Amino acid sequence: MSEPIIIDALIVGGGCAGLFALNALHAAGMSALLVENNSLGFGQTTSSQGILHAGVKYSLGGLAGDDAKEASDAAHEWIDMLDGGSLNLKNVRVLTRQCYLWRTSGLRGAAGMLGAKLALRTRPESMHESERPAWLAGVSGDVLTLAETVIDPRSLLEELANPHANSLLKGRVISVSQSANHVDIEIESSRRVLVRAQHLIVSAGLGNQDILGLANVADTPMQQRPLRQAMVRGALPMVFGHCIDGAKTRITVTSDVSTGDARDVVWHVGGQIAEDGPAMSESAFARYAMDEITKCIPALAFTGCQFASYPVIRAEPRTGDGRRPAKAFTHTTGRITTIWPVKLVLAPMSAAAIMKQLNHTQRPVCQHMHWPADLPRPKLAARPWETAQWSEIS
Ligand SMILES: Cc1cc2nc3c(=O)[nH]c(=O)nc-3n(C[C@H](O)[C@H](O)[C@H](O)COP(=O)(O)OP(=O)(O)OC[C@H]3O[C@@H](n4cnc5c(N)ncnc54)[C@H](O)[C@@H]3O)c2cc1C
Repeated sequence: MSEPIIIDALIVGGGCAGLFALNALHAAGMSALLVENNSLGFGQTTSSQGILHAGVKYSLGGLAGDDAKEASDAAHEWIDMLDGGSLNLKNVRVLTRQCYLWRTSGLRGAAGMLGAKLALRTRPESMHESERPAWLAGVSGDVLTLAETVIDPRSLLEELANPHANSLLKGRVISVSQSANHVDIEIESSRRVLVRAQHLIVSAGLGNQDILGLANVADTPMQQRPLRQAMVRGALPMVFGHCIDGAKTRITVTSDVSTGDARDVVWHVGGQIAEDGPAMSESAFARYAMDEITKCIPALAFTGCQFASYPVIRAEPRTGDGRRPAKAFTHTTGRITTIWPVKLVLAPMSAAAIMKQLNHTQRPVCQHMHWPADLPRPKLAARPWETAQWSEIS
């Protein structure tokens, strides 16, 4: 094996968490490289619905918790980046700047309570019946609008990765050994590479557990939350929003233009149906999901449309009761820092938290370090609907 590559930080995993961390480390003048064993964003980031949650979804049960406030603050930081702020994300595709929030009865009371009680910067606004989009006809309860931005997560990955293309490697970590002064990481790529880094950043989502296992880090346990997301494509309106039932989000719909021949609209549907899905067979899920979608959006008929679904696992720090963690997670053991942003919207905050933790260390080893040119670069993962098996909706 050739001489080790000596750098400040090696990042393992090129989803939104790893790529935001790479951008932050480079902006601070540190030498950082990233290794990805599949395609960038494979797993959670390309499956994300891209909603920069303003916090309301997380506060439906009553008072705003820490997570709702954190999401609200993060959403405002995003607006700055999308407008070309210090991290310029101006070219990320913004699909909408407004989502709808509706339920079949009595939302006014709940929303009024929210508006009064929450310290959120984004409040839902009530909408007069005459202003509603046609697809919300037949909804008997109030309809609210919410200043919630939705982005195309794949275009985010592209914008974060492109300026750092030579810092990205397709390869597999095969050993990690930590000492007082550095971490040695052995990588299998088109040839074997050894990296000696001051810090190892573990941002591999579901893969974090394996990397932490290789490094003998046992104090950062992970939990998995399986989901099954639904997708519908056809001559549909672009829909962005949440249908609410009490404290639950019955469905969350986001839309994009399908890259199929028909250039149809494709809906990506999550929420409670996605949480219920893993316990069902694929065909039972298709019936259940379409039933829920039809009940939540009674104005539309889906004849001529197609349905597909796919399983995906959310990887998070273990919470004890298995529920969604409230906050983005970063934890350092020796020279190894693990990140689970928990939500895409919180990934920039995770990167900022890492930079705070690394602040105490010595000056950067060497700036502008690249992977050797003969080593392969990872591609971007496909959007879920680009690889789906579609069936006609009868
Ligand atoms: C269905 C769904 C919808 C969501 N919707 C939203 C939303 O609307 N808004 C929001 O804010 N959040 C949303 N989220 C959450 C958000 O997508 C995740 O919190 C976020 O994408 C996690 O990013 P990550 O970089 O940590 O992980 P990932 O995106 O999973 O990236 C991990 C990367 O590491 C790579 N990897 C894995 N193992 C290894 C290894 N051993 N070596 C090297 N590389 C490895 C993977 O290939 C991948 O590229 C959603 C999540 C899901 C699943």
